[in-house]
Amino acid sequence: MGIPLVDLRAEYEPLKDQIRESFDEILDSMYLFLGNNVQAFEQEFADFCGVNFAVGVGSGTEALHLALVALGIGDGDEVITVSHTFIATVAAISHVGARPVFVDIDRETYVMDVSQLESKITESTAAIVPVHLYGQPVDIDPLLKMAGRYELKVIEDGCQAHGAEYKGRPVGSLGDVGCFSFYFSKNLGAYGEAGMVVTNDAKLADTLRLLRNHGQESKYRHRIIGYNSRMDELQAAVLRIKLRRLAERNERRRQNAYLYNSLLRGVDLITPREADYGRHVYHLYVVRARDRDGLRQRLGDRGIQTGIHYPVPSHLQDACLVYGYRVGDLPITEQVASQVLSLPMYPELKSEQIETVVQAVREIEEEKG
Ligand SMILES: *Cc1c(COP(=O)(O)O)cnc(C)c1O
Repeated sequence: MGIPLVDLRAEYEPLKDQIRESFDEILDSMYLFLGNNVQAFEQEFADFCGVNFAVGVGSGTEALHLALVALGIGDGDEVITVSHTFIATVAAISHVGARPVFVDIDRETYVMDVSQLESKITESTAAIVPVHLYGQPVDIDPLLKMAGRYELKVIEDGCQAHGAEYKGRPVGSLGDVGCFSFYFSKNLGAYGEAGMVVTNDAKLADTLRLLRNHGQESKYRHRIIGYNSRMDELQAAVLRIKLRRLAERNERRRQNAYLYNSLLRGVDLITPREADYGRHVYHLYVVRARDRDGLRQRLGDRGIQTGIHYPVPSHLQDACLVYGYRVGDLPITEQVASQVLSLPMYPELKSEQIETVVQAVREIEEEKG
């Protein structure tokens, strides 16, 4: 029996009856989009993030895209973010016609190195998109200070960090808007596509509600040209059920991470470091290995599934050639991308399974001598 990177069935099993019951209700009513479940989930998720408003949208990518549109970011603007992220962060910026400007990451936390931020700010900078990657919050206070000084908008990419905290404040509530993905493998995952934008700004929330549904203010009355990015009732129903368990499941991820950390002591790997200012929610448990590809291959041979998040940094993707970056421009990002390896991580992962993974890593290390 192998060990998967994530195990969605283990989460589904105890929720099966409840989820099927609410699916039945929705299918009997045939009210499929932006109904009671979406509305209730928006309220519940807003509460979870400690904000006043949440707007359910079609995906995390759409959350970022619509947030940028709602904040008026577009042609000619520069948006500062990191290259070490899933490409969707960058795509959303490109979609509005803005130029992504990449800042390097911190070599220990793997999120934006905020101390390098100011050097990237120009006359054209309009916004910053900090990415709370792997579940680790960005050092947001100095970032917000900088944003305030230069009058920049802050759009948090919390797609991997539902429930993470910065100095006790929930991720998503820190900037002008927070964006979340409910892609199936995220800490809070739907069974299809879904995302959320959260904010304390009532006007912005109104704009987002218009944008996600063709700019429609009442039936066939369109105030602005919008998009089709509605959350559906089936996804909202699943997410409501799962949200009630999210805090507890994040805690189990943390315990699993600590067990990995302690068992991996003395092994020639760099284990993740949790920043003192934050509460990491370990969407991914990412180690760094010198011979990452060899280790990955040998773990795979033993039935242990791993991942690489991400092997090619955004600034070196073919899709981003147009922005003119070259190898060597972001040294920490490039080094980290060549070494990161995500080990199996999910709340239901058992201590014995973690022991098995670590034992395998030790044996592989010994084999190599
Ligand atoms: C998953 C993810 C997204 C995109 O979310 P989707 O729901 O897949 O569109 C954006 N940013 C980051 C950091 C992500 O991990």
